Amino acid sequence: MDSEIITVGDELVTGHTLDTNSALIARRLTDIGFTVRYKTSVGDSLADMEEAFRLALRRTRVVIVTGGLGPTDDDITKKAIVRVFKRNLIFHEEVLEDIRARYANRGLEMPAISQNQALLPQGARIFPNKLGSAVGICIAEEGRVFVALPGVPAEAEQILDDEVVPYLRGLRSGQVLKVVKLRTTGIVETKLSAMIALGLKMEGGVKLAYLPSYSGVDLRIIAADDGDEEADRKAQALIRHLEATCGRYIYGRDNDTLESVTGQLLRDNDKTLAVAESCTGGELGMRITSVPGSSAYFLGGVVAYSNDIKTQQLRVDPQLIEEHGAVSEECADAMVTGCRSLFQSDYALSVTGIAGPDGGSDDKPVGTTYIGLASAHATYARVFTFGSHREVNRTRAVYAAIELLRREILDIK
Ligand code: ATP
Ligand code: MG
Repeated sequence: MDSEIITVGDELVTGHTLDTNSALIARRLTDIGFTVRYKTSVGDSLADMEEAFRLALRRTRVVIVTGGLGPTDDDITKKAIVRVFKRNLIFHEEVLEDIRARYANRGLEMPAISQNQALLPQGARIFPNKLGSAVGICIAEEGRVFVALPGVPAEAEQILDDEVVPYLRGLRSGQVLKVVKLRTTGIVETKLSAMIALGLKMEGGVKLAYLPSYSGVDLRIIAADDGDEEADRKAQALIRHLEATCGRYIYGRDNDTLESVTGQLLRDNDKTLAVAESCTGGELGMRITSVPGSSAYFLGGVVAYSNDIKTQQLRVDPQLIEEHGAVSEECADAMVTGCRSLFQSDYALSVTGIAGPDGGSDDKPVGTTYIGLASAHATYARVFTFGSHREVNRTRAVYAAIELLRREILDIK
C-alpha cells in the first residue's frame, strides 16, 4: 500500500524547524510494509493545505499529516480537513474532560481556548494523546485513510506507535510481514552486496535492502506471505544465506547496537575494559557508557589529547613519539599497553589518528587512524584509513575500535 506524508507549519518550510516527523513516520511505515511515495511540507495556509491534502488523497491510499492541531488561530489543519472531506466539526465532551483533567493534574485551570481541541471532524476515529492535548484524527473513506497527528515530535511518535501503526497493520490483513534487520559493521556496502550475491536465490515476496551509515550497513529483510509461518520461513531462509556469506560482519539484529552487543560479551565473560583516546576525545567512552549497566564492565578512560598526557598518564616513551609520531602504530600500541596497566583492566582500547581537516601528510593523510587493543593474550594496533571529514572520522574510529574488541573476544580473525 502506498502512502504520502505531509508536514504542516510555516516553521518547516522556512527551515527554522527541521522536519524530523516525516523521517520517523516514513521509517515506521516502511517497517510495516507500506511504500512511502511522497513527502510534502506545506505552510500554514488553508488553501495550500487543502490542495496538498486533495493531491495526496488522489495519488496515494494512506495520507499521514502532522502539525497544526493545536488550539490557537494559526492551527488550521482541522479547517482544511473539514473542507476536503466535507464534514462538520462535532464537539466531544470526553475529549474536553481529558484535557480538563490534564490541566487539573498540574493544578491549573483549563483555558477557554482548549474547547477548540474537543471539536473534531464528524465520523473521525480518535487516537488519544498521552503527552498533550491535541488528539490524533483518522478518517477512512473510499478506500483512503487520512490520519492527522500533532506536530510536537514526542506526541506524534507516541500516537504513531501506540495507535496508528497497529491500526494500519490491521488494514493489511491477509498479508503477514516479517521484518528483520541484521546489523553489520567493518565492511562497505558494495563489498557486502558482492559477497551476498554469491548463490543468492530470492523467493517471491522477499525483499532485501541495504541501509548504510557511518557505523555500518544494516540489512533489512522483508518477507511477505499469506501466513505467519510461511513469511517466517522465507525470512529465515534469507537470513541463513546472509549468515553463511557474511556472518563475520553481522554483530546483531533489530535493536542491538555494536556497543550493547560488545558490552554483553564483556559481561558474559566477566571481563573489564578501559580506553585511551586521542582523536576521539572521549567519544569512545561516551558510546560504551551509553549502554545501561555498562558500569559492570567499563572502568574508565584517559583522554590523552596532548603528548604530555600520553607520556605522563599512559607512560608512552617520549622517544617513541619523537621517532614515530603520536599518530603511529607504535604509539597506539604504547597507549593501549599503558592504559591496560593503569586501569588493571582485562581489555584496553586506544585510538590515535588525524581527524582533520588539518594535520595530514603524504604518508599519513587525514583520516589515518591507529587503533590499539590489549588483552591478557595479545597487544596490537591496526591502521584504518577513513575519509576527510572530521566528525565522520571520529565516529568511524569509535565503531572500528569497538568492533576490534568484539572480534578479539569472539576470536574472529
Ligand atoms: P500544539 O498543540 O503544540 O500547537 P500542533 O499540532 O499545533 O501542536 P505545531 O504547532 O504545528 O503542532 O507544532 C508544535 C511544535 O512541534 C513546534 O515547536 C514545531 O516546530 C514542532 N514541529 C511541528 N512539525 C514538526 C515536524 N514535522 N518535525 C519536527 N518538529 C515539528
Ligand atoms: Mg500549534
